[in-house]
Amino acid sequence: MAFERLKLLNPAKTEKLFHRDVDLVECRAKVLEVQNEYVVLDRTVFYAESGGQEFDTGYINDIRVSDVQDQGGRLLTARGTRVEIPAIKIDTTVVHQLAGPAGFAVGEEVLLRVDQTRRRNLMRSHSAAHFLFQAAKTVVSTPEDPLYVKGCHIAEDAWRFDFAGDIKADVVQKIEEVANGLISRGGVMEMVPSEVSDEVFYWTWEDVVIPCGGTHVRKVDELKKMRLSRTKKGANLTRIKGVFVQG
Ligand SMILES: [Zn+2]
Repeated sequence: MAFERLKLLNPAKTEKLFHRDVDLVECRAKVLEVQNEYVVLDRTVFYAESGGQEFDTGYINDIRVSDVQDQGGRLLTARGTRVEIPAIKIDTTVVHQLAGPAGFAVGEEVLLRVDQTRRRNLMRSHSAAHFLFQAAKTVVSTPEDPLYVKGCHIAEDAWRFDFAGDIKADVVQKIEEVANGLISRGGVMEMVPSEVSDEVFYWTWEDVVIPCGGTHVRKVDELKKMRLSRTKKGANLTRIKGVFVQG
């Protein structure tokens, strides 16, 4: 079932509990709105698809959550003190799509449970994506010709960026070496609250700072070495996809 944008009767900001505790995979929440198989709650542990990262799945009571999307909110354009922060959607309403009719009553309390394996895989992929980005920046970017990201996607088993420009195969090889060199250093990745919104954080590792609102693992040891592949997407776009090397 494809997700349909709802006309929300109650477009309130949903409290996103994964910002406070990324390991929290269960919570109770109050039903604010129900439309057929769509549910809006006062708070959630489910990550809605955003910033290229796929949504969490799981259950609300015993009904399968098949899709989670952000609606509404506002576009934040703010200056961070540490690094430049791109325009980012905040204060959104999280809409959960269920596999069947919700049948909840407004005001009812429900139990939310996120699929932990999928969440963990997405967290690992997302963290690895930051190392890929940092490595690409190190290898390709110059002050005169900065690296420009046109898009990204983070799935359970892979992560990819669409970079402006024609990045050659030998350069991608170099990016892979640098990314794996960074990962082999280990350490801890911290999400530091930003001064612009309680939904925007700085992902930090050593002296690397990347603004982000996604979910990540804390220990670099949870990541494996990555293998990169390259696809040309038109004359001036290069897609670089990463996967973990198995074994
Ligand atoms: Zn991130």
